[in-house]
Amino acid sequence: MALSRIAREVHTSATLAITAKAKQLVAKGIDVTNFGAGEPDFDTPENVKNAAIKAIKDGYTKYTPTAGAPALKEAICEKLLKDNRLKYNPSQVIVSAGAKQSILNIVLVVCDTGDEAIIPSPYWVSYPEMVTMAGATPVFLKTTDKEHFKITRESLAKVITPKSKLLFMNSPSNPTGMVYTEKEFREIVGFAVEKGLYVISDEIYEKILYDGALHVSPATFSDECYKRVVTINGFSKVYSMTGWRLGYAAGPEEVIKAAINIQDHTTSGANSITQMAGLEALRGNQDSVDTMVREFDKRRKYIVSRLNSIPGVSCLLPQGAFYVFPKVSELYHKKIGGQFVTNSFDLVNVLLEKAHVAFVPGAPFGLDDYIRISYATSMECIEKGIDRFEKFLKS
Ligand code: PMP
Ligand code: GLU
Repeated sequence: MALSRIAREVHTSATLAITAKAKQLVAKGIDVTNFGAGEPDFDTPENVKNAAIKAIKDGYTKYTPTAGAPALKEAICEKLLKDNRLKYNPSQVIVSAGAKQSILNIVLVVCDTGDEAIIPSPYWVSYPEMVTMAGATPVFLKTTDKEHFKITRESLAKVITPKSKLLFMNSPSNPTGMVYTEKEFREIVGFAVEKGLYVISDEIYEKILYDGALHVSPATFSDECYKRVVTINGFSKVYSMTGWRLGYAAGPEEVIKAAINIQDHTTSGANSITQMAGLEALRGNQDSVDTMVREFDKRRKYIVSRLNSIPGVSCLLPQGAFYVFPKVSELYHKKIGGQFVTNSFDLVNVLLEKAHVAFVPGAPFGLDDYIRISYATSMECIEKGIDRFEKFLKS
């Protein structure tokens, strides 16, 4: 018997698949340098771990309200006001098992069958799949390194139709690390809202910024933006809490209320212990964030200069997040490591199998001419991995 439309149309996550494949090789005793997952190599801060242990010991181990523990929601509202100049009430916030779940909730709330959701490309792999789950159609707005992977009001105007319902924005971006300036952001989001679209502003990398780049939250731009923008954030990246599964959405009350109804019938509230750890992450000492960002900054400069010295590879210097997205299409239509390489999947596969370096192909991010490299891994790994990549191409 045929499976459902969702089963047929939704694909595996390339980021998670490559990470799993690399881990399988490691389990066989192979030394793989892994640039796959967007996951900081730093440990979760000690104060955060201790808060979770305390929550267990105090018996904070029961269901929380679906939308999140009241204390955590209060702390999220304080954070949004302090860091983002956004005034939200706790009733405008939903806490989920990761930002991923918060985003899916919002997509399901906003998009109906037949609606169009505009996704600037390259994009984080899960956005189009979520739109597909909702029965809506992803509309890709392609950019390349020539435009620094940024859309403009003009390029957006060309893809808006009467069916457009939602625009995804993600600054700093996964996979490119690009950061929109306030002016660019205002023009784009202001226009989308003027056209009646909702906007998901995925700000999960907001604190991972370099060279004095600033993050601005588009919900602050105007009253109209405040009514249409849903702000997404989470704990995975900034507090090295990928496995804890904690994220949130803040936005118009009717949108959040509907998201809570969906979550009521899917996972209920996020893990109670994790929520207490998240509360400590927000309220406790923030030094670990600066330490991590300083280290990422060194790796960023190193990896970009190394990549640009490899013939056939060219890479922009990102201003945020912990990814680089080099163009590698000059390496295509050639034999590499004895195999004919025609696209980003071929290149990544031959590199993983023969050179034991794990990158993610660009195709699932929307641009096959590129690959994604996460530098959220130690400097030693970066040196070793890029040496292997360079040597392999030379051979
Ligand atoms: N948005 C972006 C852009 C991401 O890169 C990620 C993932 N790692 C997420 C959302 C989801 O993060 P999480 O579910 O771990 O909070
Ligand atoms: N978002 C991270 C990445 O892009 C983690 C994996 C995932 O959830 O897709 O690598």
